[in-house]
Amino acid sequence: MDRIGQGFDVHRFAADRALVLGGVTIPSEKGLLGHSDADVLVHAIADALLGAAALGDIGHHFPDTDIRFKGISSLVLLEHVAGLLAGEHYAIVNVDATLVMERPKIAPHVAAMRGNIARALHVDAGQISVKATTNEGLGFIGSGEGAAAHAIAMISTLAP
Ligand code: MG
Repeated sequence: MDRIGQGFDVHRFAADRALVLGGVTIPSEKGLLGHSDADVLVHAIADALLGAAALGDIGHHFPDTDIRFKGISSLVLLEHVAGLLAGEHYAIVNVDATLVMERPKIAPHVAAMRGNIARALHVDAGQISVKATTNEGLGFIGSGEGAAAHAIAMISTLAP
């Protein structure tokens, strides 16, 4: 049986932080603020996968009060999510994600992001789609205060 899940995340930009998206450190004067590396794209994808399996959300599995997750690469969390799904006998069919931010341009980094995400999930890069758009200068994203990411994921029950 196929199941679908949705994920959404927002992080605030801050000075003196690395900008990590899809596990790629992108040159930028500001990075995203968070307990982990604040990889908003990977967080949305993790939540989409957990949602598809009705396994809660990343805040439940990786609470930001837990010192073990401070500064951790979100790809490590994503790989853990893949393990949770495998434990429930789900296979990942595909993931489609959209980053919403004004700058910097991420197009040059998309291939590397897809590769990182696919490796963490033990799937092919062809199963992972990463897209990007701006917010046309509107709202907190348009002003450069933050970035958001949306993701959907399809998983399938492995044949018994
Ligand atoms: Mg997050």
